[in-house]
Amino acid sequence: MIPIAKPIIGEEEKKAVLEVLNSGVLAQGAKVKELEEKFAQLCGTKYAIAVNSGTAAIHTALYALGIKEGDEVITTPFTFAATATPILMQHAKIVFADVKPDTFNIDPEEVKKKITKMTKAIIVVDLFGQPADYDELQKIADEHGLAIVEDACQAVNAEFKGKKTGSFGKVAAFSFYATKNMMCGEGGILTTNDETIYEKAKMFRHHGQSEKVRYVHQDLGYNYRLTDLQAAIAVEQLKKIDAFTNKRMENATLLTDGLKTMHGIIVPSIKSGVKHVFHQYTIKVDGFKFNRDRLMEYLTSKGIGNAIFYPKPLHLQPVFKKAGYKESDFPVAERLVKQVVSLPVHPSVSREDIKTIIRAFKEA
Ligand SMILES: *Cc1c(COP(=O)(O)O)cnc(C)c1O
Repeated sequence: MIPIAKPIIGEEEKKAVLEVLNSGVLAQGAKVKELEEKFAQLCGTKYAIAVNSGTAAIHTALYALGIKEGDEVITTPFTFAATATPILMQHAKIVFADVKPDTFNIDPEEVKKKITKMTKAIIVVDLFGQPADYDELQKIADEHGLAIVEDACQAVNAEFKGKKTGSFGKVAAFSFYATKNMMCGEGGILTTNDETIYEKAKMFRHHGQSEKVRYVHQDLGYNYRLTDLQAAIAVEQLKKIDAFTNKRMENATLLTDGLKTMHGIIVPSIKSGVKHVFHQYTIKVDGFKFNRDRLMEYLTSKGIGNAIFYPKPLHLQPVFKKAGYKESDFPVAERLVKQVVSLPVHPSVSREDIKTIIRAFKEA
């Protein structure tokens, strides 16, 4: 079986974890600090704040921006639920805006239509590893005094017009979940150039205490701290991120070369000026010999891992029911969930594996 995802754990990661175990400092400590400094360097931002998941990073970002009850936050319905659940955690109102059918990312024209006096922020997702259109989105945000939160959970090391993800908007969030492009099992990080956001984020992850004065709880906070055990893994992964990224991009190019002329298969569209880091390699099935679900069964029978990201748009998820949306409100997202399927693209996928995948499509 060629799996759809596979974390890469080398001797370096194992050694680094052992060193932390031997040091006796297991919770947030020097390794977390090292990760923050090196990650900020990668993104070209002033600050990075490590937390224990991507979800915690998005929640912390919204808190640090002051998002609260009565505020509206615009986001995409075509993403993982954790992009949007933090809006509920802050008791704010979710407003969805449809996506573009080629990049799967939020459509700036749709965002414009959703802005009201109550809108405070837009959570923009760099879905599958491709940065969204930050030129257009930042223009809209500036015009209306809105903050952009970049959900770059799938897009570490990606670029838009020569700038790294994590440097767009007011604050960005990344995930180090086991299957992400760099990982430490569970983990996350925020990046920002804003000192106020930096200070607020550090308090929020630490029970609302400042790091200087303990046992004075200024505001509601959580325990969102990352451990040094995990940070040690992430620091080693960060050293390999360029190699990981290049291999994903190379695999994506090979898949596209093999699949692009196939009738009824639409390969990923990469916008000019963008570095797409292929967290997922996602095709659309439209008019192929098999329909999407039949194709998935066929691929599985050939030992080729595959998955739907995401099978249900968020506006139709029970948890977001209170937002008041219904079927046909977001036609692009609703069509995409019926067309998409992701194929193995991670760094452990070999050239031989790619040939196997392309051969299977040809035989179909
Ligand atoms: C993975 C992911 C998250 C959540 O990250 P966790 O580390 O799993 O909490 C949020 N948004 C997107 C787009 C993701 O892919």
